[in-house]
Amino acid sequence: MARSLAAIVILGQGSLGTARSIQRLYPDALIYGLAERVEGADRSYQEFGATLRQLYQQDTPIIALCAAGIVIRTLAPLLLEKGAEPPVLAVAEDGSAVVPLLGGLGGVNVMAREIAAGLGVAAAITTSGELRFGTCLLNPPSGYALGDLELGKRFVSDLLGGESVRIEGAAPWLAEARLPQDQQARLTIRVGSAEREPAANELLIYPRSVLIACNGNIHGAEALREALHQKRIAVQSLACLLAADSDMAHRGLHEAAAELGVPLRFAPVASSVVELAQRAVAQLLPPLSVGDDIAIAVASQPLDPEQIGRPRGRLAVIGLGPGAAELMVPAVKAELARANDILGYETYVRMAGPFRADQVMHCTDNREEMQRARHAFELAAQGRSVVVVSSGDPGVFAMAAAVLEALHESSDPAWHRVDLQILPGVSASLATAAQAGAPLGHDFCVLSLSDNLKPWDIIEKRLDLASQADLALAFYNPISRSRPWQLGRALEIVRQHRTPQTPVVLGRDIGRPGQTLRVITLGELTPEQVDMRTMVLVGSSTTCVFPRAEGGEWVYTPRWYGNKPV
Ligand code: SAH
Repeated sequence: MARSLAAIVILGQGSLGTARSIQRLYPDALIYGLAERVEGADRSYQEFGATLRQLYQQDTPIIALCAAGIVIRTLAPLLLEKGAEPPVLAVAEDGSAVVPLLGGLGGVNVMAREIAAGLGVAAAITTSGELRFGTCLLNPPSGYALGDLELGKRFVSDLLGGESVRIEGAAPWLAEARLPQDQQARLTIRVGSAEREPAANELLIYPRSVLIACNGNIHGAEALREALHQKRIAVQSLACLLAADSDMAHRGLHEAAAELGVPLRFAPVASSVVELAQRAVAQLLPPLSVGDDIAIAVASQPLDPEQIGRPRGRLAVIGLGPGAAELMVPAVKAELARANDILGYETYVRMAGPFRADQVMHCTDNREEMQRARHAFELAAQGRSVVVVSSGDPGVFAMAAAVLEALHESSDPAWHRVDLQILPGVSASLATAAQAGAPLGHDFCVLSLSDNLKPWDIIEKRLDLASQADLALAFYNPISRSRPWQLGRALEIVRQHRTPQTPVVLGRDIGRPGQTLRVITLGELTPEQVDMRTMVLVGSSTTCVFPRAEGGEWVYTPRWYGNKPV
C-alpha cells in the first residue's frame, strides 16, 4: 500500500510559519491545525490525541510541532500493538530542533535530516548504526527489500561490535556509507534476486527487479511462488505482476497481487505471456517461461512498477456526508487522497478539498449528471483514479445511480473493467434526525419532492400512501425557485392523515457553517420556512417531543408500535 502523505500537526497559530516551511519541503503534506486556535491550516481537528492516534494508525507520517513528550505520551498506548509504524517526528515550534521519535525503518532519520536541512539546524539522530555508518542498513532505498528484520538487527549489532563486512552484488546507495569493509570478512551484505536461505552472517537485500507476466488462468499467489522457486528467484525480488488489459477485472489476479504485496499492471493483449513481458519492459533479460501462463523476467536494475504498463482504473462514487469533516467516513477520506481526478458539482468538489497540485478538479453544473458519469468512466478507463462526489450519501438522490446507469448503457469493455466502488456517506435525513434525537427511530419513508425527474402525480400518490401508512416522512428537495407550489400541495396531502400536533423537524445546512435546527408542528409548518437547503422530517402518530436541559427539544419515534411492551 502506498504510504499516505505526511501530516504536519500544529496546536497554535505561532507554529504556522514553521509548518509552512516544512510544507515547502513536502508539498503534498497537509497542515492540521487545532480548531479555534489555528486559522489557515489545510485541515482542522478538534482533539489532539485522537487525531494523532488516528493518523498513526492510518500509517501517516507525522510531523508534530510540539514537545516530544506530548507526542510520546499520546502515542504510547499504540506502540505495543503490531501494525503501522510511520515516521513520527517532533519539531520545535520555532523550528530550532528536529527530533525523530519513531519509524526508524520507515525512514524517519532521512526525514529528520531533510527537515533539519530545510530549517537550517541539525537533526537529533540517535540511532547508533546510522551514526556510525552514515546509513540505516535495515532501511534500504526504494526499489530494494530487506530479507529479514530480526536477523538484520543482529547483523547490525555484530557490525557495531567491531566486525568488518563485505558487499556482494550491486549496492550503489552504500558507496557513501562508512562501512568497515574487508574482502575476507565473515559478515556479508548480499544484494541480488536469487533465492537464498537466511543465515546469521548475511544481510540479504533483494533488488525489486523481477516482473511476472501472467494470464487469467492464475488464481491466487501459489502458482507464482512455485514458479519463482522453480527458477530459484527470491519472491522478495518481485516488483510487480503484469497481465493483459482483457484480464483487468480478473479476481484471481488481483488476489495474487494482494497476497504477494505487489502492484498489478496491465498492457495491451499479446500473443503470449512472454511477449507481454518483453513488450512492457525494454531492459529485461529474456523472460523465463513457466508453462503457458507465467513468464518471469529479471531486469539488471530495480523496476519502477509505475513505469510498466498502466494500473486498473478506479472510479469511486463517494458521499461527503452533510458537510462537517468529522461526519465523513474514513474510507472516503482515503479515496480522496488517492484520487487523480475529482468530478462533481462545484460546491461539493470545493467541500471535498483542499486538493494537491497534481489532482485535477472537474467542476460541472448540477444538472449534467449523465454527462459527468460518462466523463468519469472515460478518465477511469485510461487507468486513472477518479472520484465522483455527492453530498450526503451518493445513493440517495445523487450520483451513484447515474454512474451505474451510464455503465449499464455502455458496451465499452474498458468501462466495465474499471474498479467501480460506491462509498457511503451520512445522508441529510440521518444527520438531521441525529441532531433532533431519533425522529426516524421507527419505520420511515424517504421521498424527494422534486418533479424534475418523475411525474408529480406519482409523488402525490406516494405521499398519500406513506401518510396513510403512518410512516415518518423525510423530504429531500422540498422546494426550489422553479418548484414553488409543490411543498404546499404535499402538506395538504399529509394533513389529511396526520394531526396538526404532529412534530416536524426542519434542518437547514446541517453539518455546515450556519446550520439551523427547528422543531415545530405540522400545523405551524408553511412553505416559507423551507428552502432547497432544508431537510423536512414529519413525525408519525407516535413521534414524541420533550424539552432538553440545554434548551430546545428532543424528538423521537419509539421503536414499538401499538401497545408499549412491558
Ligand atoms: N445525496 C444527498 C441528498 C441530495 S438531494 C444526501 O444523501 O444527503 C439535495 C437535498 O438534500 C436538499 O434539497 C436538502 O433537502 C437535502 N440536504 C442536503 N444536504 C443537506 C444539509 N446539509 N442540511 C439539510 N438538508 C440537506
